[in-house]
Amino acid sequence: MIAIKKPVKNLVFLTGFFICVTLLVACGASNDSAIISGQTMGTTYHISLSNNPAKHDIAAIKEGVEQRLSAVNQSFSTYIDSSEVSTLNQYTGGEGQVKSAAFIQVLAEAQNISFLTEGAYDITVGPLVNLWGFGPDFSEDDIPQADNISQAIKKVGYTNIIFDRVTQQVKKLIPELYMDFSSIAKGYGVDTIAEYIESQGFNDYMVEIGGEMRLRGSNPEGTQWRIAIEKPDPTTRSIQRIIKLSDTAVATSGDYRNFFIKDGVRFSHTIDPTTGSPVRHSLASVTVLAPTSMTADAWATAFMVLGPKKGYDLAMKNNLSVLFIVKEKDEYKELMTPQFQQFFKDKAA
Ligand code: ADP
Ligand code: MG
Repeated sequence: MIAIKKPVKNLVFLTGFFICVTLLVACGASNDSAIISGQTMGTTYHISLSNNPAKHDIAAIKEGVEQRLSAVNQSFSTYIDSSEVSTLNQYTGGEGQVKSAAFIQVLAEAQNISFLTEGAYDITVGPLVNLWGFGPDFSEDDIPQADNISQAIKKVGYTNIIFDRVTQQVKKLIPELYMDFSSIAKGYGVDTIAEYIESQGFNDYMVEIGGEMRLRGSNPEGTQWRIAIEKPDPTTRSIQRIIKLSDTAVATSGDYRNFFIKDGVRFSHTIDPTTGSPVRHSLASVTVLAPTSMTADAWATAFMVLGPKKGYDLAMKNNLSVLFIVKEKDEYKELMTPQFQQFFKDKAA
């Protein structure tokens, strides 16, 4: 995804890097606009503050942001051995383990989307993600053996997690259960930062982590934020569509950035829990708009698992605002739910 202020020269790419960030100031932005950026969750984050009503010290705001991002990582990163998720993954007993309110909140949303997608979306897919080399352990780009896949599938299943919102206890029904929050933690991080900067009096902002984004109010020029959805082509970076947005979160999932190629076949990092293997269908990318980034992020991965047909039907059933980009021969075709179409009609550039 790409956020745009004006035609091409102000392009701000949001799938991991910024182009022309400095132009935000150079192109007539209000003079108390600011950009905060850094690294988190194995990717980059960017915050664009269109103005600074409370005249905060931006360095102090950045410190507040970094502290909160560390806390999110300390809950959800499988790359940190002492994180809340890692300690639960390592735990093989049958007792309920008390987790933070944040952990329970994100787990509840993940479980809800698993339920609505009948398990196509499933954070217990971790053993398969690791087996296919997309997890925290380094691995060669290799196709796993069939019996290793069937062994790993036995450890997967969201119904093997029980949790209680009041006691904040999480119970694993099988000892090997391994949770992977990669498909939702970036979104939750975006929400956490958005809420923090709102609490500091910023009402016009864009927050983005690794392409997951949340926007409010207007851009530094005082007009609506413009987001460009990338053409899902692994070989180039170009724009598929531009939309004007504010007061929403937006997430894009695709098979065009994180994958490996073996013997001419491209293997995506989205795993179908029923087959135990990366998904293989014509859906190249999905863009979801939702009130929170956590929800948009998780649904985007869910739709990548479901594919265009089942995904579209489910998006309709749940009144979601979704754009599917399907690859047909060498062309990219769009399929939008009426909610997305409506939005586009009203507010498109
Ligand atoms: P994308 O931007 O493509 O959505 P994310 O990092 O947000 O990428 O989510 C993809 C990650 O989600 C994978 O790397 C993997 O860790 C995890 N994942 C893969 N398949 C599933 C699934 N079926 N359900 C939930 N999470 C999954
Ligand atoms: Mg995602």
